[in-house]
Amino acid sequence: MFDIIEIVKNRDPQEKEFHQAVTEVMESVTPVLDQNPLYRQAKIPERLVEPERAILFRVPWMDDQGVAQVNRGFRIEMNSALGPYKGGLRFHPSVNLGILKFLAFEQVFKNALTTLPMGGGKGGSDFDPKGKSDNEVMRFCHSFMCELFRHIGPNTDVPAGDIGVGAREIGYLFGMYKKLRNEFTGVLTGKGINWGGSLIRPEATGYGSVYFAAEMLATRNETLEGKICLVSGAGNVAQYTTEKLIVMGAKVVTLSDSSGYIFDETGIDQQKLDYVKVLKNVKRGRIKEYADKYSAAVYTPVDPEADHNPLWDHKADCAFPSATQNEINANDAQNLVNNGVVVVCEGANMPTTPDGVDIFLEHAMLYGPGKAANAGGVSVSGLEMTQNSMRLAWTREEVDNRLKLIMKSIHRTALEAAEQYGTPGNYVNGANIAGFVKVVDAMLDQGLV
Ligand code: NDP
Repeated sequence: MFDIIEIVKNRDPQEKEFHQAVTEVMESVTPVLDQNPLYRQAKIPERLVEPERAILFRVPWMDDQGVAQVNRGFRIEMNSALGPYKGGLRFHPSVNLGILKFLAFEQVFKNALTTLPMGGGKGGSDFDPKGKSDNEVMRFCHSFMCELFRHIGPNTDVPAGDIGVGAREIGYLFGMYKKLRNEFTGVLTGKGINWGGSLIRPEATGYGSVYFAAEMLATRNETLEGKICLVSGAGNVAQYTTEKLIVMGAKVVTLSDSSGYIFDETGIDQQKLDYVKVLKNVKRGRIKEYADKYSAAVYTPVDPEADHNPLWDHKADCAFPSATQNEINANDAQNLVNNGVVVVCEGANMPTTPDGVDIFLEHAMLYGPGKAANAGGVSVSGLEMTQNSMRLAWTREEVDNRLKLIMKSIHRTALEAAEQYGTPGNYVNGANIAGFVKVVDAMLDQGLV
């Protein structure tokens, strides 16, 4: 089995995050491959790690000073066995082919777990929206779509948001798609509510992550009521994770951005969260300003030399990493254990390094990997596609109820698969195996394509 990991490493040695994602999935599914020789005969592992299509393009745009700028655009169409490619666009300076391949690979299995008919993809650019004016962001998004439009469509590939791509960016991208194609279709999800978006889509990843944590706790007859929670990030996922945790009676004491984090021992209530939403989504400010406004909060800037992140070194019950990949290393994982944390629920994609994951599993924590725990976002994206096709809009309650049911079903599916393959309570194995089997059986049905 480990041949495939060697093949991937030798072929693209610089794509570290992709190696990490492939290694985790392939290690989990080894018993499945051993029991089903047909999978190896059909070269399923080799096919899964190769994108069906990877598009790389130039994105030229003009800044406010009238200076021409050039960025790189990408779309990875990873696997369409279960439906049109589906997955977000990330705009962040760290974006490269390896990061997007890891995200697209994860997306394939995550989308399979939702039970909705969606393949997997991911895309984005090394463009940094931070510090750019609205007009610069618009010109960039329009230029990006001038190439992307020929590769996507409501039955082909349906992108959404991710880091750096929120409602503003989706609006500009959709506007240019509509102009170029001369058609109004559900080609992107995360659209504005009055022009085809779904209620609960902005909230879905964060709410879904909290629903997943509640399901995990229920297996030990516990609830989120009164739990102290560490949340990282201050963007879309972190904000709505915090919002739902407040509703469930938990107390959130941290938030962060790429510059540092705040610790508010008195808890972040809805009023303080509303301040964060305006700070981040409207003013596009820094989380440090929270500590300027609320004297109970302490701000700690990022120390690039540190071997651990102090955000994860507070007494708590639950941790919701909701910023970015590899934000919890082995030291952080050990600190979480030492501080009494029992639930780690990943709103972000692959936020824990492999040695960190090992520590969570060794301590039998309730550890919900991103592939399962953050699938609420793409689930409601799938529901947005359904509503667009039917040309109707469901109520908030209807979408939220469907989201809850999907998260419940993902939790049960992962738990059952883990049990079936001899690793009870191991949601990593469970999610990887359940997603894998669904995708590869569809691939086998469709022949060698
Ligand atoms: P946002 O852009 O809304 O927010 C991202 C947050 O994480 C910001 O606070 C940002 O800080 C911080 N961050 C980003 N990169 C880094 C970094 N390298 N180091 C430290 N902090 C960083 O993105 P989302 O909330 O949408 O996404 C967060 C995570 O959730 C990502 O892993 C994403 O893939 C995942 N996810 C998102 C889904 C969605 O529906 N949006 C669905 C499923 C998963 P700063 O402002 O300083 O950049």
